[in-house]
Amino acid sequence: MDTQALKEYIRSLGVSDIGFSQVKEVAPSQWAEYHYAITYVIQLSHGIVNDIKDQPTETYFSHYRSVNYHINEITLRTTIELQNYGYKAIAIPASQSLHDAPYYGAFPHKTAATLAGLGWIGKSGLFVHHKFGPRVRLGTILTNKELSIGTPIIASKCGNCNLCASHCPAMAIEGVNWEQGMERKQIFDAHACSMHMKEKFQHIGRGSVCGICMSICPIGNGFPKGNRRFIVLNISSKLKGV
Ligand code: SF4
Ligand code: SF4
Repeated sequence: MDTQALKEYIRSLGVSDIGFSQVKEVAPSQWAEYHYAITYVIQLSHGIVNDIKDQPTETYFSHYRSVNYHINEITLRTTIELQNYGYKAIAIPASQSLHDAPYYGAFPHKTAATLAGLGWIGKSGLFVHHKFGPRVRLGTILTNKELSIGTPIIASKCGNCNLCASHCPAMAIEGVNWEQGMERKQIFDAHACSMHMKEKFQHIGRGSVCGICMSICPIGNGFPKGNRRFIVLNISSKLKGV
């Protein structure tokens, strides 16, 4: 199975973009022989994301979970396919928070995605796909199969935009442009974000989703520049003194 055949196989499972990276330097020590990562991108529904204004919606919570199931299914099927061809592969869960490292999973999807050249980490701490913006979720598979890798993206392309930081109700976003190697806490406070969701959005999605910083991002939102949505949101946040 060559790289192109693998790409076509994953595409046939229903993804929006695919990239490959070398993760030899960043893989956990127990997975040191897995030198390559496969990243795939699933676009979220614009209609559902656009409905997120100053709080998440129950429909978004359902969508978030459906996409995670879809990601895990693709990851599992691709892992099996790679093993059928004699390669080793590890399926990284779509969403995970480790007991010993809360807010972190077994391997960071965003690291593999930026190394594959698919996008950067936004001021929001979300992965920002170069075309679809942050309205995506990521799947990752580690493998020992050699792959043709992409060109890493090593710095943010957010520029002077600060919309996510100014609209975050938890004030969890520092407003700092990401560069490769930065620690997450320099960009955003995962604990403050999580606490806000648990306290304010328990009745919607059991306090595990928010999505405001994703919805407000101008990249990949499908609206023309200077769109009405921003004007409405900016006026409403000014009224609230945000
Ligand atoms: S998900 Fe919500 S609370 Fe968390 S950083 Fe984004 S806007 Fe702030
Ligand atoms: S809203 Fe602006 S600053 Fe935040 S991630 Fe999107 S482009 Fe970057």
